[in-house]
Amino acid sequence: VNPQDGIERIEVPVLVVGAGPAGMMSALLLASSGLSCRVVERRAGPQRAPAAHVVNARTLEICRSAGLDMAALDAASASPADAGHVYWMTRLAGQELGRLPFEQQGDDVLAVTPTPLRNLSQHRFEPLLLERLRKEAGAEVRFGHEWEEAEQDADGVTSRVRDRESGVRYAVRSRWLLAADGAGSRVREWLGIRPVGPDRIQSFVMIHFGASLRPLVAERPGVIYWLSDPDASGCLVAHDIDSTWVLMHPFDPDGERAEDYTEAVCAELVREALGSRAIDPTVLTVSTWTMTAQVAERYRSGRAFLVGDSAHRFPPTGGLGLNTGVQDAHNLAWKLGAIASGWAPECLLDSYEAERRPVAEENAQQSLRNATRMLEVAQALGLSQDREASRARHAETIADPAGLRRVRAAIEAQAEHFDMLGLQLGFAYEAGAMVPDGSEKTVPANPVRDFLPSARPGARVPHAWVGRQGRRISSLDLFAYDAFTLVAGPEGGAWADAATSVDAVPVRRIVIGRDVEDPGGRWTALLGIETDGALLVRPDQHVAWRSQRGSRDPCDTLRRALTRIVAASSGA
Ligand SMILES: Cc1cc2nc3c(=O)[nH]c(=O)nc-3n(C[C@H](O)[C@H](O)[C@H](O)COP(=O)(O)OP(=O)(O)OC[C@H]3O[C@@H](n4cnc5c(N)ncnc54)[C@H](O)[C@@H]3O)c2cc1C
Repeated sequence: VNPQDGIERIEVPVLVVGAGPAGMMSALLLASSGLSCRVVERRAGPQRAPAAHVVNARTLEICRSAGLDMAALDAASASPADAGHVYWMTRLAGQELGRLPFEQQGDDVLAVTPTPLRNLSQHRFEPLLLERLRKEAGAEVRFGHEWEEAEQDADGVTSRVRDRESGVRYAVRSRWLLAADGAGSRVREWLGIRPVGPDRIQSFVMIHFGASLRPLVAERPGVIYWLSDPDASGCLVAHDIDSTWVLMHPFDPDGERAEDYTEAVCAELVREALGSRAIDPTVLTVSTWTMTAQVAERYRSGRAFLVGDSAHRFPPTGGLGLNTGVQDAHNLAWKLGAIASGWAPECLLDSYEAERRPVAEENAQQSLRNATRMLEVAQALGLSQDREASRARHAETIADPAGLRRVRAAIEAQAEHFDMLGLQLGFAYEAGAMVPDGSEKTVPANPVRDFLPSARPGARVPHAWVGRQGRRISSLDLFAYDAFTLVAGPEGGAWADAATSVDAVPVRRIVIGRDVEDPGGRWTALLGIETDGALLVRPDQHVAWRSQRGSRDPCDTLRRALTRIVAASSGA
């Protein structure tokens, strides 16, 4: 307690503001890299209303390496049979205009990832993250605690936090501050960092309701239903076909008032969307929401970092928001851990923005492209702002076989939006904590849809099924979050010996054929090394350096590479 103002003051290496997916994953990974933290969250508990529902393969890989209970995650997800399609319907119980498969969720993706994408609603995901976090001695979560303001100096940040229940304020002195406080980030505002990009693309009322719609969905189980009837427009998201749904209904903040969307009004909107009065929906929560496509101009100010939605806000068309936030956390936490442990200089932190901001920009653009392209379906149906005219054209179009063909073609043109494995797994860093190896980047025909595994520095190290001590594991399971890993080809023992002489940075060693079996040499081929080559993989499973062949002086080569990775990491 400070004797001057009587305010309690606690000290912790990292203060994380916000216990959404980005904040909780940050805390979990900080703990894995040996850094204690406190998370303050103004809500009383985890998210209760559904928001995000796409948890993609890369995010699940991170969950797996962070020790989450993957069986529990799977059990909380919609089955791929239920969540395998998106539909365009007049109304839920009306006419189907078209359908598309929803993402690659089947066993064939197991060739490129151990964890295919799942539909796991955020309000089911967050309690599982929290359960895992509660087991970490180094991470402390305080619900009902709100970050109010801070001051920072050369050595740290002093934040003022208020316990909402008691009203008591206390000070937290931390070496670093992570702003995982979401789209309306107060920390970002305090730092004076501007979000760049359109801030109001379209607004919606989100009506979260309970109902079992299995009978209406019948032989069309799906995850999203885009509705075209001008008297029922919007989109239905099935978080659980048997119990939990959201209707996203267009909302005009300039001409409408949110409070006019009463429970009765919302229930009626839902009945219209369903196109059936046989089911009585229970309206659970109603909120308004505005679609934006923004990326913060900077990700860092001094000792404070933006993580998740505080750094970027995307249109939901692509399901990239939550995923990008979890991946930000994965990129940043090990770097903070490395500096705290003394094996990397502070400048390593410059690589966070250099690596993650371009990914967010790309994801914002793709989400926006997906949203814009959806207008083609509305155009093919003759829909416009004029509801009278829309009614007539919509009816005419769907009654006319040529009109329906045009609508189907417009739906087919949306395929990329719902099939983004290339973007989800293929993002790679071009500049940052890595040493380029001069190899050409191989760009697939459609980089959003097609995923080409690559071990070029900056890329996520390829997954393959390998053997260790008689067990079949994913090659991604070989990497620990608190060290670099040197992977050497079967004749690359000299690289592994050289790694033992590096004492400045923790490096684990794996020699293929000695420490891990690579049946058929598939993984070695994906790594792009000869039998005497090697590569260095960072704690976040991105390749930092690669030598396709052996070297005359592996000790010196490796030492130089590591120095460059951890020290000259802003990409300059
Ligand atoms: C309708 C909808 C659908 C979506 N669909 C998808 C999808 O399918 N896939 C996807 O990836 N993303 C989707 N998203 C986006 C996704 O919900 C967000 O990207 C995600 O929640 C961001 O996580 P976060 O941890 O960065 O922020 P948040 O989840 O917003 O968490 C921030 C937390 O900080 C807390 N906080 C704020 N200020 C303070 C303060 N001063 N003190 C203490 N705590 C504070 C908040 O209470 C909140 O809990 C969707 C969003 C919406 C609205």
